[in-house]
Amino acid sequence: MNYSYLHPREELALTLHRIYQYKMTTTSGGNLSILDENGDIWITPARVDKGTLKPSDIVCVKSDGTVVGQYPPSSEYPFHRAIYNARPDIRAVVHAHPVSLVAFSVSKKIPDAKLIPQTYRWNGSVGFAPYGIPGSKDLGDKIAAKFAAGYDSVLLESHGVCCGGCNLQDAFQRFETLELCCKTEIKARTLGTPQFLTEEQLQLESRSAVMLPVFEREISQMTVKEKDLRNQICRFVERGYRQGLLSGSTGTFSARVSEDSFLITPRPLDRFEVRPEEIVLVSNGKCEFGKTPSHAVLSHHALYQANPGINAIINAYPPNSLAFSCCHQTIDTRTLPECYIFLREVGLFPFERTFNDYPALVENLTLRHPAAVLCNNGVMVVGQDMLSAFDRLEVLECSAEAIIDSAPLGGHVPMDKAVIDDIIDAFHLEK
Ligand SMILES: [Zn+2]
Repeated sequence: MNYSYLHPREELALTLHRIYQYKMTTTSGGNLSILDENGDIWITPARVDKGTLKPSDIVCVKSDGTVVGQYPPSSEYPFHRAIYNARPDIRAVVHAHPVSLVAFSVSKKIPDAKLIPQTYRWNGSVGFAPYGIPGSKDLGDKIAAKFAAGYDSVLLESHGVCCGGCNLQDAFQRFETLELCCKTEIKARTLGTPQFLTEEQLQLESRSAVMLPVFEREISQMTVKEKDLRNQICRFVERGYRQGLLSGSTGTFSARVSEDSFLITPRPLDRFEVRPEEIVLVSNGKCEFGKTPSHAVLSHHALYQANPGINAIINAYPPNSLAFSCCHQTIDTRTLPECYIFLREVGLFPFERTFNDYPALVENLTLRHPAAVLCNNGVMVVGQDMLSAFDRLEVLECSAEAIIDSAPLGGHVPMDKAVIDDIIDAFHLEK
């Protein structure tokens, strides 16, 4: 959905509903606002249940201070106004108390967004505003001072977080990726020592956006198979979002259409809701006119070229697998027979491999070894079709979570070699 066409009332209600639905706020915590071209601020109301909030509940505070609406504005309105006064480029603010960000807030630790490229791209350096009484001018001044210093994401001491953006979706994606970053670091610290991206790695990633030559095509040329795959990709991306395997701004899905063509998710893309016409066709190294494929397009192209049996590829950033990725550890699949059967041994690839070492990528990610942890860049799985790739992603994340959760219980005990050999024989797995 293109949120640019929504009225602020609709956009605020929809975004707040999404934040509540994905457990990133409680019913009483959190507030969002949009500054419109008249200088009026549309903001969520005070004392209204976040679980049932309607567009008509949204309040408008006019530039002269007049309040229009059936409720008073959020009690945190003063800091929203202070942020807009401090930063004319910010047109929307998201404030909430999601648990992992609160964990950083109460430990007085500033998250380092250099865990994966997306968290850094969205958040850059994160600011830290000292404690102030909720709703006070003092708190507004402290938060606004951090925005004035150039931060777009500011952690509030003993409170939560504020993210600003050029529109509400921009602020929301920043907020959501920062929560993912904090969740990942907490899980990574259960597992080991998280590693952060270097400047060289961030540079490498920022230069990875490729411009493919384009081709024009008529919609009437689309085959039934292509239509089916476009719809499958949409369904699986949205399912991945609902299952917590993707965030709104992370993750790439692709599916092979023919020997030399495949479909891939575009950028930018909100994974919450995807339409078949947004998916990009890449054919003979050329891209459908008017669309921009994911950063991962060249690595997917290399895999399809080298492995005729691969028909679907997913890059994803689910928080437990991501903890392994950031600790530069592979995920042990000797946990349950199902994990070993579906995933076999999971590779551990250096960060650079998916950007500049395609020979090593295609040699080590195959249907025999269908999953890999990419250092500081999530996980990658391949399949004979979209369902098998998605299934592997779910099993991988389940295994990662079980291993992390087993740590306080003394850690997982891998199945021994004799058990694995029996599984290989019983299920006729390739040796
Ligand atoms: Zn608050």
